[in-house]
Amino acid sequence: MLTILFSAPPARWPQYQAPLTAALQEAGIAARIVTETEAPETVDYVVYAPNGGLSDFTPFTGCRAVLSLWAGVENIVTNDTLTQPLCRMVDAGLEEGMREWVAGHVLRHHLGMDAHIVNPAHRWDQVAPPLARDRTVALLGLGALGQAAASALVALGFDVQGWSRTQREVPGVTCHHGAEGLRAVLERAEIAVLLLPLTAQTENLMNAERLGWMPAGAVLINPGRGALIDDTALLAALDAGRIGHATLDVFRSEPLPADHPFWTHPRVTVTPHIASETRPASAARVIAENIRRSEAGEPLLHLVDRARGY
Ligand code: NDP
Repeated sequence: MLTILFSAPPARWPQYQAPLTAALQEAGIAARIVTETEAPETVDYVVYAPNGGLSDFTPFTGCRAVLSLWAGVENIVTNDTLTQPLCRMVDAGLEEGMREWVAGHVLRHHLGMDAHIVNPAHRWDQVAPPLARDRTVALLGLGALGQAAASALVALGFDVQGWSRTQREVPGVTCHHGAEGLRAVLERAEIAVLLLPLTAQTENLMNAERLGWMPAGAVLINPGRGALIDDTALLAALDAGRIGHATLDVFRSEPLPADHPFWTHPRVTVTPHIASETRPASAARVIAENIRRSEAGEPLLHLVDRARGY
């Protein structure tokens, strides 16, 4: 009988209890799941979310893997007490949600919806938007979520330019990589979507210089992580009209402080880190599959490269 510690904010447990129990049973794993323990050395696996109160992994001497409920692992990947393998979440439900959020926010800007949703002067401007095929959308990050977003944008017909650390092949996407690739992508990006992890290499990626590479009036959409953007540089670019609009879902400090200028800036849309979230039913199966693999001596899925940071 395995012992699994579910370490997440208390509100998560009622959402996960039934799906996780069912998924473990389906995978043929006999386990008891606890939400706290006084005997950490007896824990075989930790299911982890930030803000669950767990920060010292040293006492978990028998733990064979830490299984993150989050796709982004910047909160745990630099934890020196973590010596166990760390797996991040790759979840079909999370991908579906991100695909929808990105498609919706890209279409808002592509179609110029705002001018018609709020139109106090009752203007009758019959200016049809261009077709998607004539609009270039950049996707920075071509991992699980970037590719999910790409599938929707490609299906809609957008000219999708993707960027990643290593060269990728994504159907319908013109793929670039590395430092030179970034400039080539941003120079064409009428709309840029950030779906990168936060690492030492990606922090402040969108600084004044790189924001300046984008076409005048371009739109920046960030469902990645707040610190991918230099906030001061973004505000300056928005004030100058260099960047036409920023739709931001993630921030350096969350909840976004009430007095933060993003809240009131006319060219900024704030959404409260809801672009997507891990869905218990599908995520529980990912957790159970990884435990099954570990017990069978098979390679773990979605293993984080600690040196790379994601
Ligand atoms: P993946 O690890 O699957 O993909 C990451 C992508 O970023 C890869 O294409 C990777 O390149 C690329 N990348 C990483 N570092 C660099 C770099 N230095 N230069 C260029 N490209 C780089 O992550 P996911 O797609 O699953 O998730 C992406 C992020 O989305 C998460 O880390 C998290 O921060 C965020 N997220 C936000 C949510 C929200 O609700 N707002 C919900 C869930 C996640 P390569 O392909 O070469 O490895």
